[in-house]
Amino acid sequence: MIEHNVGVAPAKTYYAEADGSGLFRELVTVLETQYHAAMSYIKNLEQEQVEEEERKWQYVCQKRNFVCERCGTYPPKSERDVYFETGFCGACAHAAEKMKSE
Ligand SMILES: [Zn+2]
Repeated sequence: MIEHNVGVAPAKTYYAEADGSGLFRELVTVLETQYHAAMSYIKNLEQEQVEEEERKWQYVCQKRNFVCERCGTYPPKSERDVYFETGFCGACAHAAEKMKSE
């Protein structure tokens, strides 16, 4: 018996026995399609959530005037810690740090 692992869904691993029949190939193809569709659906959902969080953060920046002291842009959410620590966005904080050490 030859087993083909065609994809790992969150709670289930799909296996199909290769017996040379078109039926199994069809089954494998369907499962693979479902797997890829499910994964890209989850990925899109996660991406949308990230973008939504970023939009909210940018709105907070506008309201509270959180701007980088050096380049005047709103720091992205991922650079929030750096911003509160230094008053700079990530790139400017990095540049300022480099200038200090030189
Ligand atoms: Zn900056």
